[in-house]
Amino acid sequence: MTNKIIGTVIIAGGGIAGIQSALDLGGAGFLVHLVKKSPAIGGVMSQLDKTFPFTDCSMCILSPYLVETGRHPNIELITYADVKSVSGKPGNFTVKVKKRACSINTLLCTGCLSC
Ligand code: SF4
Repeated sequence: MTNKIIGTVIIAGGGIAGIQSALDLGGAGFLVHLVKKSPAIGGVMSQLDKTFPFTDCSMCILSPYLVETGRHPNIELITYADVKSVSGKPGNFTVKVKKRACSINTLLCTGCLSC
């Protein structure tokens, strides 16, 4: 893993495909903005009990990826947000993201679950 940023990318979608893409690109030295519509990443896979064809536990497979994504220095999670517009040309895009209001200060929340 390197912290030298060689470019910036935005990924719309925080399911397993978006997570794996973010980890690959973040590991390659890109600054990744991972935009997810819902308040948490994980997508449909996080809602499944087992995965085909080996019937492995979905969360057992997914959890290490979630933790790695959350801790990765090159990945910025933008959850509870939508990509509103994309303009520009290859190599120089401008993307507008609308982040929905959240009643929790995510910088202070410790995840104690009292709420
Ligand atoms: S009560 Fe706990 S989980 Fe809820 S917002 Fe506060 S710190 Fe976060």
